[in-house]
Amino acid sequence: MRAVLMGPPSAGKGTQAARLGTELKVPHISTGDMFRAAIAAGTELGRQARGFMEAGKLVPDEVTMGIVRERLAHEDAQSGFVLDGFPRTVPQAEGLSKILASQGVKLDAVVLIDVPEDELIRRATGRRICQECGRVYHVEWNPPPGDACECGGALVQRKDDSPETVTERLATYRAQTEPLRDYYSVEGSLAVVDGMGDPDEVHRRIVRVLGRCS
Ligand code: ADP
Ligand code: ADP
Repeated sequence: MRAVLMGPPSAGKGTQAARLGTELKVPHISTGDMFRAAIAAGTELGRQARGFMEAGKLVPDEVTMGIVRERLAHEDAQSGFVLDGFPRTVPQAEGLSKILASQGVKLDAVVLIDVPEDELIRRATGRRICQECGRVYHVEWNPPPGDACECGGALVQRKDDSPETVTERLATYRAQTEPLRDYYSVEGSLAVVDGMGDPDEVHRRIVRVLGRCS
């Protein structure tokens, strides 16, 4: 299965993609996680991405395409993947389609997780992530077992989950990522899934849609 999980910031893409990746035995590839890992490691990629992320803007397409091209060339991505948060612009979608065409394959499904804006803000501002393993919690809806992650790692709030930056990220989404809805609708590969309700329910909806695409 080669699937893309799309959706506005904090819609639940990472939560659902991690679970799908495990169940389908394919890698969960998150460009946001890759950028955050690069920032934590102090690499050149992290240096390039940081300012854009902290401002709620997108990292430039050529930088993002470079890391995705490299990641999709790995052995573990040859039999499938769940892409989370990529593509986010029409040029990225076109770039992805070229990479896949060069491998003689194509996407099986693009799932858009739809969540109303007031809920997105609640999900973003309550999100906490583990500094060690990257596991994602929510202070109200998916609270950690105590003050720390299950693995013992410290929980932190993402800098870009402040209310001001979330507002900026939503504006970025509307301007640059929303056009992908039309792009993939024309291709006939888009399925819109209601992202409200508990994560298990959303997961069942996504599995139902993927079942029709495989
Ligand atoms: P994204 O990858 O789209 O930014 P995440 O998966 O990180 O989103 O989820 C954002 C926040 O919302 C996290 O705190 C997560 O625990 C929480 N969350 C995810 N799915 C749901 C859901 N169905 N209901 C309530 N909270 C959710
Ligand atoms: P969310 O979906 O909650 O906004 P992500 O972890 O997917 O969180 O993305 C965090 C940030 O990383 C984005 O606001 C953006 O700055 C950068 N980013 C992630 N994926 C992409 C992408 N495909 N293109 C450009 N920038 C990206």
